[in-house]
Amino acid sequence: MEEAKKTKRISRESAKKALGLYRYIAPYKYRFITGLVFLIFSSSSTLVIFNYLGDLIGAQMDNFSDRVVQISIVMGGVLLIQAVSSYFRITLFGYVTEHAIANLRKDVYERLVKLPMAFFSEKRVGELNSRISSDISTVKDTLTSIIAEFVREIVTILGSIVLLYFASWQLVVFMIALLPVMGGFGVFFGRLIRKLSREAQQAVAESNTIVEETLQGIATVKAYTVELFEIARYRKKTDEIAAIGLKNAKYNALFITFFVIFMFGSVTAVVWFGSYLVGTGEIENRDLFKFFFLSVLMAASVGGLANSWSAIQRAVGATENVMAILEEKEEHLHTESLPRFRGQVAFEGVSFTYPNREGKLILDHISFEADPGDRVAIVGPSGAGKTTLTNLLLRFYTPQQGQILVDGQPTGSYPLHGYRQHLAIVPQDIVLFGGTIADNIRQGKPGATDEEVADAARRANAHDFISQFPSGYRTLVGERGTKLSGGQRQRVAIARAILRDPAILILDEATSSLDSESERAVQTALDELMKGRTSFVIAHRFATIRNCNKILVMDKGEIKEFGTHEQLMASPDGLYRHLAALQFLES
Ligand code: ADP
Repeated sequence: MEEAKKTKRISRESAKKALGLYRYIAPYKYRFITGLVFLIFSSSSTLVIFNYLGDLIGAQMDNFSDRVVQISIVMGGVLLIQAVSSYFRITLFGYVTEHAIANLRKDVYERLVKLPMAFFSEKRVGELNSRISSDISTVKDTLTSIIAEFVREIVTILGSIVLLYFASWQLVVFMIALLPVMGGFGVFFGRLIRKLSREAQQAVAESNTIVEETLQGIATVKAYTVELFEIARYRKKTDEIAAIGLKNAKYNALFITFFVIFMFGSVTAVVWFGSYLVGTGEIENRDLFKFFFLSVLMAASVGGLANSWSAIQRAVGATENVMAILEEKEEHLHTESLPRFRGQVAFEGVSFTYPNREGKLILDHISFEADPGDRVAIVGPSGAGKTTLTNLLLRFYTPQQGQILVDGQPTGSYPLHGYRQHLAIVPQDIVLFGGTIADNIRQGKPGATDEEVADAARRANAHDFISQFPSGYRTLVGERGTKLSGGQRQRVAIARAILRDPAILILDEATSSLDSESERAVQTALDELMKGRTSFVIAHRFATIRNCNKILVMDKGEIKEFGTHEQLMASPDGLYRHLAALQFLES
């Protein structure tokens, strides 16, 4: 997070990537350019108004009342131009920004959802989410105001230099002589204060992390009675923030003090020199006033330019991050459907390493075969590679060696979406999406009728408890909805899988046990679900394992044993026999 907030220098590549944003503005480019033209109009009119202000006061002082009226009328006209062009500039930029950002958001989300699993296993998803939303809002600010600010400042600075020169070149020379002093001083303090505010930001971010961690794990904090420890941790960080803040305040105070001395000193010097020039008759009163107004305007723009520039640097960084996501390679989601698989699955010498942990072999030459309708229990200690094996079957990752065949064909030869349509998974931690129970079940088969949904729920032993809710199938679940118990969530997930009617099924048995009644309800639902499909069950309970006709014992990425319960029990010092003995002892 902090990384993203830092103002980075703009490199050639980052600028190039950021220019990718042009694609989103291109459809509205005429509006954007017209907006820019209005922006140049409105900035120039400000210049003209400041210029005339000098003329006006000069004419007033010299008692040219006709000129005063003339100038006032012209200024009124310019003000009108200024007002109208500001209106159009803001509405035009607003139009372009809203459309471009909406398209950008859609594309980023679409791309994210289509990215392969490997992308997500390398990123922390929560961080990704907040990073993207803050980056996109930075990009939005850039389009609405930062670019406009920047252009306005540049136009103002260039324009005022020209006008100042016409007012009095002597004063321009005098002022330029003072610039290096002011500039050097500004740069020195600017760096110092930026460094301190970065430190402050970092410290605040760290303290926020502490709050987040504590609150997310509040149950653990209380159970382990570490409240005082957490409080001390937070206190320490907070004191650090305050110390940095104080240092910051001191430098700010110094900055302001010096600024006042230098600023007013230079203003006094310029006014003094200007009056001297008026005295000698080299310039007129109105030139002095013009000079004064224009240099105030220019000073404000120069001051603003530093801010706009760092905003642009941040924006380039943010745009680069967003564009980087758009450049990630997505999975090809062909929509074509495939005929139903028979469900024959074979692993042939499959070896696999996670892309982010190269060098650690997670699966080591895995070979086995499952016939249509087989129930294969995958057992083994945690970390053995059981989940990884099912991830490969789902084609979340591609093995580096060997191949996986379904119905005799390498899985990679089937179109991805069509392939996955014949698979279903009932994971260990069931996440229900925001929406109704019916919506959640219907994910198994989008477009399924209410009757089909209810039928699947009935077969999953879920119809009864769903009907007991006041809103029945319309009960809202998910983060903000009714809380379902663990067993109920499982049965909803099973109904979803039944509705999908897959040829190949992956079940990750929940490790946490249910009460015996839900246990039975879930078990019969699972039996119903597994009927007529090739099922892979990551099993923790002996009852589940006994229910399977083949058992695959894994350890450290290798298959240790493969066969029926009877075959494996027959091997006197096999791992399965050992595990089985432990299970018996436990129950
Ligand atoms: P099991 O399901 O048998 O408990 P897993 O297949 O989940 O085992 O994990 C096997 C090994 O792979 C573990 O060492 C685990 O740390 C590692 N692993 C699992 N998922 C990832 C991932 N997304 N990225 C990197 N390593 C992973």
